[in-house]
Amino acid sequence: MSILIVGTTALDSIKTPQSENPRLLGGSASHAAVAASFFAPVSLLGVVGDDFPEEYITLYKKHKIDLAGLERAPGNTFHWEGEYEVNMNNRQTLETDLGVIENWAPTLSDNLCRQPFVLLANCAPQLQHHVLRQTKEARFVIADTMDLWLNIARHELESLLKEIDCLVLNDSEARQLMEEDNVVLAAQQIHRYGPKYVIVKKGEHGSVLSGPNGLFLAPAFPLNKVIDPTGAGDSFVGGLVGYLASHPGEVETNLHQAIIHGSVTASFCCEGFGLAATTEISMADIQQRMEALKSMVAF
Ligand code: AMP
Repeated sequence: MSILIVGTTALDSIKTPQSENPRLLGGSASHAAVAASFFAPVSLLGVVGDDFPEEYITLYKKHKIDLAGLERAPGNTFHWEGEYEVNMNNRQTLETDLGVIENWAPTLSDNLCRQPFVLLANCAPQLQHHVLRQTKEARFVIADTMDLWLNIARHELESLLKEIDCLVLNDSEARQLMEEDNVVLAAQQIHRYGPKYVIVKKGEHGSVLSGPNGLFLAPAFPLNKVIDPTGAGDSFVGGLVGYLASHPGEVETNLHQAIIHGSVTASFCCEGFGLAATTEISMADIQQRMEALKSMVAF
């Protein structure tokens, strides 16, 4: 089955202690769409400005991502600038320029309205809600978010949470949302806002799912070297939804496998700047790491 992914299609300027990389292809929807594309057909819904390089469109096409919902508007593409410390778990956002996505309110084609899996990748909750309201046959809706939206659009986020099946967010955001230091408790409390499933990402420490059957813990794939973790969270959720869309049966039955596949897909993202590493792998690489991870956690 196919997937609709809406979110940012961005230019990212990323500084690490080793190097500076201006205006790479990034954005929540770009990372998620490429990750999901290894598993299932993906339609990308997004907007770019007239500064968006043609070579990045070619990269989407290489992954057979349907671009009928990718608009080009006059103005600047969403631009995000971030800087990592030596400990790459610590990152600072230096600049977020919303550009053409700020006032963008897309009307979905009939085809896009009817996608069974919907990923509302990280972007303004108003936009996520606007897209969700137009969907007609969604079987499973996942939303991702981040601290910026908790800070400036909390009310809109809370009203979105009533309408989705699964919320994905990182540990500091879960703590912030629930004003609760214990991440497990925070995850469990988020159900009160609506989502049946809550997944809290903990970076190199994996993730925790809270759902009707209790908790599930997923490890991250251990890496010897991290080059740039930007987009790992988006790749995680992209791989996860991709796995769900490509496997028949109940989401409940497939969710644990989906989370581990998301985790493994995200590991590749960290091994290059922007999308450089993820766009070079194949399904065979994902499967190989799945096997390696399985043997590391079997006991
Ligand atoms: P992650 O490392 O998973 O948090 O995702 C980083 C990606 O999210 C980058 O490619 C950014 O372009 C994108 N991004 C950063 N800030 C935002 C935001 N406020 N809304 C949507 N996407 C964002």
